[in-house]
Amino acid sequence: MGKLIDLTGRRYGRLFVEKQMPAVKHRAQWLCRCDCGALRVVPAGSLRYGHTRSCGCLRSDIARTKASTLNGCSSEKLHGVWNMMKQRCQNPNNQDYKYYGARGIGVCDSWKNYLNFRSWALANGYEKGLTIDRIDSDGNYEAGNCRWISIQEQQKNRRHRNTSIKKD
Ligand SMILES: [Zn+2]
Repeated sequence: MGKLIDLTGRRYGRLFVEKQMPAVKHRAQWLCRCDCGALRVVPAGSLRYGHTRSCGCLRSDIARTKASTLNGCSSEKLHGVWNMMKQRCQNPNNQDYKYYGARGIGVCDSWKNYLNFRSWALANGYEKGLTIDRIDSDGNYEAGNCRWISIQEQQKNRRHRNTSIKKD
């Protein structure tokens, strides 16, 4: 056993060392407070050799970031557009269903998967604030029949329909 090094007040990643705890199997233990607020007892070696950098929240944050990049973050605006589109076509309780699902307008199979819809959107000029528009208003939501336009343009296109403008 080497000489005890006082780690009190040191910072390792998200962990701030608060005080020494009783040794376990002759290994020094330190009580650490994580930036997220959690307390954790960590062996000195794990701190000093960089094995432990948080209470565990760091690892789950990284996993979450990876997952959201991979799956398309469900909080992004485009996900809302996709969801609204499905609701209009598939949910009879949706206030706009009568203009869509009830008229036989659907979402193509490929776009039922958000990732497919997202890839198409990003490759076809989607920007925040634009709304999805069907070129043939009797056609489905599918790659060949959709484009991104401004709300104002859509308003003109919808003059035949007595609907309020949706914020997709
Ligand atoms: Zn934490």
